[in-house]
Amino acid sequence: MATIFAPATAAGKAGIAVVRVSGADASASVIALCGHIPAPRVATRVDLKDPANGERLDDGLVLWFPGPRSFTGEDVAEFHVHGSRAVVDSILTVLGRLASFRLAKPGEFARRAFAAGKLDLAQTEALADLIAAETRAQARQALRQLGGALGRAVEELRLRILRLRAQAEAEIDFPDEGDVPGGLIATMAPSLDALDRALGDLIEQGARGERLRNGYTVAILGPPNAGKSSLLNRLARREAAIVSSVAGTTRDTIEVHLDLAGWPVTLIDTAGLRELDADDPQAAIEREGMRRARLSAAHADLRLIVLDARTPTLDATLAPYASDALVVHNKIDLAAADAAAIGISAATGAGLAQLENILAGKAAASLGAEDGQAALVTRARHREALVAVQAALRRARLQPQAELIAEELRAAAEALGRIVGRTGVEDVLDLLFGEFCIGK
Ligand code: GDP
Repeated sequence: MATIFAPATAAGKAGIAVVRVSGADASASVIALCGHIPAPRVATRVDLKDPANGERLDDGLVLWFPGPRSFTGEDVAEFHVHGSRAVVDSILTVLGRLASFRLAKPGEFARRAFAAGKLDLAQTEALADLIAAETRAQARQALRQLGGALGRAVEELRLRILRLRAQAEAEIDFPDEGDVPGGLIATMAPSLDALDRALGDLIEQGARGERLRNGYTVAILGPPNAGKSSLLNRLARREAAIVSSVAGTTRDTIEVHLDLAGWPVTLIDTAGLRELDADDPQAAIEREGMRRARLSAAHADLRLIVLDARTPTLDATLAPYASDALVVHNKIDLAAADAAAIGISAATGAGLAQLENILAGKAAASLGAEDGQAALVTRARHREALVAVQAALRRARLQPQAELIAEELRAAAEALGRIVGRTGVEDVLDLLFGEFCIGK
């Protein structure tokens, strides 16, 4: 296997950059650049030199992690250098010249850590999530999973299922003549009930965990020119959407990710909804924009209807959303809002703090847990496996024979194992490691 190397920090000017090396020949990189192997796991200041001509490349730090006590389980070296392109490139050039060295592929360090058993599958997913986390709540959830919390919960459930399976197997091997049909499942019923509840809780939490990963989505709806794009820009504190006074400008949907009091909120600006003239050929593009707007509205966690405070009426295109939407009246600098509506002005900023608080509260209610604990289940993949486990356990209850019960319990344990497992998950791996960038 090749020894791999890559910058572990993002490209661009920075105080420092870290170049990471992993593989059987990692020590050769330390010798080449530093001339000697430093004490393990201690930051050591070194002059990094080009072995070809002895030129000093940087004054930096080297960290040496002999395997298996390293991130990947292999020998790992980290070079902490000044974060300029010139310095990083010069280090990469030296590494590239070493025999059996090559640049790492995206996610390859994590993949080796997984292969060495340093991380289970759920922890590897958590690492990708932690790197991608944009808010505190997302980071907290990923960190909990990275610590192996999901793996431990799954293992505990799996052992409970395996104990039941052993009970069923014993019944196959040593049938008790006096047993009444259904006797086995009757003995197991309390345990099966408890398992069903535990799975149900995890699945329910999972919906929250998934929403937290993706962010609480808010679709901004309203007639053209109500000020939807202006509001989005105000909340995003940057010019993310094109604001224009020509009706029907926003034909595509625009997303902005916000951190509201630590909660991830994705705002989606949509094309204005209005009744169009059926014969107007010009309306075709706008109609497509409106189709996408309706799609976003249907999938969003919340619909925020923006109306012009001067003409705050819901037409037929908006009326269907009104019942469970949050309605704001914009442009209160031009006209007063109805007492019942939230009044804002995207132009002056009036009322926006209140609106942000309301959105943060709704996000917290949707994403947060009553006990404040981060969800254990964070991906559709986990949830689907748990649903399969629950289904197998429920089928077990309907089986007349110990053999069939044991078979369903085996299927249940296997489905559970797939959450953290290393078998039957090859298809997941490529997708997952594709989420990482180079150097992770
Ligand atoms: P959209 O079509 O709903 O996205 O509306 P825009 O955000 O493009 O805004 C339409 C027009 O209304 C633009 O000329 C904005 O400058 C103006 N506008 C938006 N919000 C306000 C506001 O609160 N007060 C005033 N006076 N004008 C606004």
